[in-house]
Amino acid sequence: MGSKLQTCYSLGNMTVLDTSIPHPPTPEAALQLLLDGNRRYVNNAPHLDESPQRRAEVARGQHPYAMVLGCVDSRVPPELIFDSGLGELLVVRTAGHVLDHAVLGSLEFGIEALKIPLLVVLGHDRCGAVKSTLDALEKHMHAHEDIDWLVEHIKPAFEVAQHEQNLLDATVKAHVRITVNELKQTPILREAVEQRKLQIVGAMYNLESGKVKLL
Ligand SMILES: [Zn+2]
Repeated sequence: MGSKLQTCYSLGNMTVLDTSIPHPPTPEAALQLLLDGNRRYVNNAPHLDESPQRRAEVARGQHPYAMVLGCVDSRVPPELIFDSGLGELLVVRTAGHVLDHAVLGSLEFGIEALKIPLLVVLGHDRCGAVKSTLDALEKHMHAHEDIDWLVEHIKPAFEVAQHEQNLLDATVKAHVRITVNELKQTPILREAVEQRKLQIVGAMYNLESGKVKLL
């Protein structure tokens, strides 16, 4: 591998050696790649690359084209629903895609070190984490503090959506929008968005159709 293909990025104390060749696509091109992948998934025509050859290729360096912040739900694995193989997506998942410092640090790593131009916040219908939050709020229940952390961070979305007919899905959508706005307020992500190096979009996944729709 010629040295001209190698770039060192520094992020705090972390240094990443990126030996991959392609330049990052624009945010718009990355979004198109992602939606094209979802279309293949819906049409049951996958061509994600997890071959030994691809494994050897990405072992030398990674160049993912998009980040997905999604829910831990076992039915919503981003690599599958976007038909993306090894080295293509940086994925962060928490219950109800709730933010914390580890999540933000991971996304900032994707932006600063890997120059990823797209971040999708992905909610889904019938989200168990959001449902648990609604139940806890309705019954004024308290769980132990880690679960309460999730409830507290999903609660603002309930307050936005509480008069909607389908309360659960409306709360998920509100939570996606609130999360996108929160991310846009953090210094590193805000700067990247202002410099048009990053686009942050919200989206919803439908469990039955497999389709992802942008919000
Ligand atoms: Zn969920």
